[in-house]
Amino acid sequence: MGDKCVILVTGGTGLVGQAIKTIADGEEKRPNEEWYFASSKDADLSDREATEKLFERVKPTHVIHLAAMVGGLFRNLKYNLDFYRTNTLINDNVLNASFKNGVKKVVSCLSTCIFPDKTTYPIDETMVHNGPPHDSNFGYSFSKRMIDVLNRAYNKQHGCQFTSVIPTNVFGPYDNFNLEDGHVLPGLINKIYCAKRDNTPFTVWGTGSPRRQFIYSLDLARLMIWVLRDYPEIDPIILSVGEEDEVSIKEAAEAVIEAMEFKGEVKFDTTKSDGQFKKTASNAKLRKYRPDFKFTPFKQAVKESCNWFEANYETLRK
Ligand code: NAP
Ligand code: GDP
Repeated sequence: MGDKCVILVTGGTGLVGQAIKTIADGEEKRPNEEWYFASSKDADLSDREATEKLFERVKPTHVIHLAAMVGGLFRNLKYNLDFYRTNTLINDNVLNASFKNGVKKVVSCLSTCIFPDKTTYPIDETMVHNGPPHDSNFGYSFSKRMIDVLNRAYNKQHGCQFTSVIPTNVFGPYDNFNLEDGHVLPGLINKIYCAKRDNTPFTVWGTGSPRRQFIYSLDLARLMIWVLRDYPEIDPIILSVGEEDEVSIKEAAEAVIEAMEFKGEVKFDTTKSDGQFKKTASNAKLRKYRPDFKFTPFKQAVKESCNWFEANYETLRK
């Protein structure tokens, strides 16, 4: 990426897109790179014509493809069909427009929740297509798996450099803090904020025993920029903290309780779904390429996210 390049980030206004903006405009700023962070207002990427117009206007040389219908366990449980159809359309439109416009490299985003539910651990990059995903989010998962199929097919038939990353659960500033739609960490932050304000108990959904590896959005952004510039493979790469850094939902809740100095009653609503018990992923491939990469300590990242939430409460998604 030595020459002048124009990098289009689809889904540029979301959690991951805004983290990439922070890093690309800051510590990773390069004079030859021009970044364009697109929202759904720039183009509805499930619409082919709108997608093609966006590419004609921006003329990207590189694409980080984040745009997607995204949600936590409870949104997925309700809308498997919409997750499948919307994301399949978006992915086909973005990759086809990238091909037709001669984009040099595309990095798309999969997720560790797309891996088979019945599996051996740790999960690695070779296992994406091994067996059915967890039933709670099969629509999202199958459409995401097809990105890997498209990447390999564009490469084999046309020599395109289209690849993908597989992040674990992401959290940070600009997250979706809506309780119905969002993921667990922003949900916990929002619920503790309300419990503190209203002097009510804080309720964790489910048993608290499922386990997750959380990655801070700014760490993910650093790694995705590296993937765009330097990762040479078409095959995906898992972007995750180590297996030893996996925590239970209960431990994640305790980290938020500590960060927000919540002193009230904590309850568990076991009538709510636990979802997938775990999806422990190996970051051995990442460590082979980036042995020295330092992840932000979990408690520090949670604290920074809580601070951002409190400072931006009036305007954030909730
Ligand atoms: P997010 O905060 O919900 O942001 C979603 C982005 O996609 C927004 O910029 C949104 O634009 C855009 N978008 C949605 N529908 C669109 C459409 N029809 N046309 C154009 N743009 C559209 O999501 P995120 O957490 O940053 O996720 C980014 C990527 O990471 C996704 O591909 C997701 O699957 C993946 N991922 C996320 C997680 C996680 O824990 N969050 C974990 C693994 C992988 P508007 O702002 O205009 O609505
Ligand atoms: P997942 O990692 O794809 O399953 O999605 P989530 O980020 O939504 O995490 C779901 C896990 O967190 C399940 O075990 C839920 O029972 C648990 N959980 C506890 N409280 C909440 C909450 O407020 N919101 C969400 N989304 N999940 C919660």
